[in-house]
Amino acid sequence: MGDRYALVGNPVAHSKSPVIHAAFARATSQDVEYSLIEAPLDGFAATVERFRAGGGRGLNVTLPFKQEAFRLCSGVSARARIAQAVNTLVLETGFGDNTDGIGLVHDLSRNLNYKFSNVLLLGAGGAAQGVVGALLEAGAARLVIANRTVSKAQALAARFPGASACDYDGLEAQFDLVINATSAGLADEAPPLPPGILRSGVLAYDMVYGRETPFLTAARRAGARACDGLGMLVEQAAESFFLWRGVRPQTRPVLEKLRGA
Ligand code: NDP
Repeated sequence: MGDRYALVGNPVAHSKSPVIHAAFARATSQDVEYSLIEAPLDGFAATVERFRAGGGRGLNVTLPFKQEAFRLCSGVSARARIAQAVNTLVLETGFGDNTDGIGLVHDLSRNLNYKFSNVLLLGAGGAAQGVVGALLEAGAARLVIANRTVSKAQALAARFPGASACDYDGLEAQFDLVINATSAGLADEAPPLPPGILRSGVLAYDMVYGRETPFLTAARRAGARACDGLGMLVEQAAESFFLWRGVRPQTRPVLEKLRGA
């Protein structure tokens, strides 16, 4: 039996993470098993402890537990501290990291070859929290966060010099990258963007993957370039894999295989 890792979240059933980590393990000859664990909403810490006590080596954490995972760690990386959210746990040490931001930036720069300057980030939940620091570090000259509950966008923006907050009605068309970090697409809904935000010359990026969301459909109709979050998923997984195993897997073949499937 290989070293055990898993994704813990609620829900997790449709995650592609096991396929991605199995491909990384094969390609790098690592003896690794990766499974899915659905934790009860009030039982995240107990689920982590059970997996650790049973010999589990590491966990990825997804919605809605990333902030709780941050609070559970005995030590965290600088990027996890800035995000106040953890998506990768090393169980031997209790160390937590957040690889979402670097995963998104790697997808934009390496897979999509996209240079951005004026960024609009939609949403202020765990996913948005994880990417603000990385986007600013990667060269965003300006980053505006819009959220349905505007107070959450304001609280998030206040933590980052270079970021500001806005409600949807106050947005003006000046962005070259619009990232949908809301979970609206999972309910076949789109964030309520004013007309003109999605247009030719804009990359519209939806973190939700594996489905045509209303946000992506609206982007294509408006002449924008549209992309889902599959590349981010693969890139953040590669960073987690590196943290656990000390080996950096190639992402392009896995992404191409998933896109082809
Ligand atoms: P959270 O539950 O923490 O946050 C959800 C966010 O979406 C909040 O800002 C919420 O606004 C907003 N929202 C929800 N429904 C709507 C709606 N109908 N209209 C407008 N805004 C809405 O989730 P996460 O931040 O953890 O995850 C967000 C999405 O990102 C998920 O779908 C997840 O699958 C995806 N994701 C993808 C990754 C990848 O690698 N591709 C990595 C991480 C996340 P409010 O505050 O007002 O409630």
